[in-house]
Amino acid sequence: MRDRPARTTDKRAERIAEFIAPLRVEPGSRVRLAEDFDPAYRAGVKNKKAGEELLRAGVAQLAEYQRRLAADATSGVLLCLQALDAGGKDGTIRHVMSGVNPQGVRVAGFKVPSTEELSHDYLWRYACRLPRRGEIGIFNRSHYEEVLVVRVHPEHLTRQGLPDGATGKKVWQRRYRQINDWERYLTENGFHVVKVFLNLSKEEQRVRFLKRIDVPERNWKFSAADVRERGFWDSYQDAFDEVLSATSTPWAPWYVVPADRKWFARICAAAVLTHTLIGIDPRYPEVDDKSRAALAGARKRLEREAPR
Ligand code: ATP
Ligand code: MG
Repeated sequence: MRDRPARTTDKRAERIAEFIAPLRVEPGSRVRLAEDFDPAYRAGVKNKKAGEELLRAGVAQLAEYQRRLAADATSGVLLCLQALDAGGKDGTIRHVMSGVNPQGVRVAGFKVPSTEELSHDYLWRYACRLPRRGEIGIFNRSHYEEVLVVRVHPEHLTRQGLPDGATGKKVWQRRYRQINDWERYLTENGFHVVKVFLNLSKEEQRVRFLKRIDVPERNWKFSAADVRERGFWDSYQDAFDEVLSATSTPWAPWYVVPADRKWFARICAAAVLTHTLIGIDPRYPEVDDKSRAALAGARKRLEREAPR
């Protein structure tokens, strides 16, 4: 076997790691969103225009890593995206994945569970939609809904038909453990999990809802239910504080991405994903001597077939 080539992207990799370090939730730390993470933070990037070049570079790098991930086909990546309504999940997915081959990406969205889904254990439907080896999977909402919306609205838990021993006060702590264990299991089997929370301010959410009302092309995005859900803002913040504190692990860390500026959130999400891929460092498979001889044979044959 030939030696692996040195990583050519060391400098860029370092810059990306530095860029996202302030967004990472240190495993074991106690998070208070209101104090620890500013939704308007932008790491000194001046404006949208300056950000666009960064995003373009990030997307190009992501595309290259995705090609390698697909060729290597030993690892998969799962990006879990969580946000409150109007947090910008859809736009983030659209922009971040704009340069990658659609065949290598699998996006799954999760809504209120169906009767079929409710008749299984709560992680079942998420397991069904995991990426394959070589793929980048994106969960638009994820298994974290099971400790967020389900916690804020306990009637969802009632509908899950759990046995007596599986409910009660300790249910959330137990679910954090189960989720951590599941993500560890995935990681140990080649599926790298990374989690992004798009951290929107309450005021920016209000402004985005108003825009959905005022701009006709956005009316379809507006939902009165979203405005009702906004009434539970503080409960969601508390639930996120707990989730981020309990489930940011060395194997599946959380990143809190400032989401008040859409363009900045997209750069961050691309950076988090690229950082994960750099960590995996997928390679194009090496061609061994036997395959190289076969390639040479095929070349000769094709050359003989050239029109005279
Ligand atoms: P968009 O509004 O951009 O289409 P969305 O993800 O908000 O995207 P909706 O159909 O508006 O999609 O909302 C889905 C709803 O389903 C959310 O309110 C979410 O909290 C809820 N949901 C997701 N998972 C669960 C779950 N396990 N139990 C109960 N509700 C859930
Ligand atoms: Mg919605």
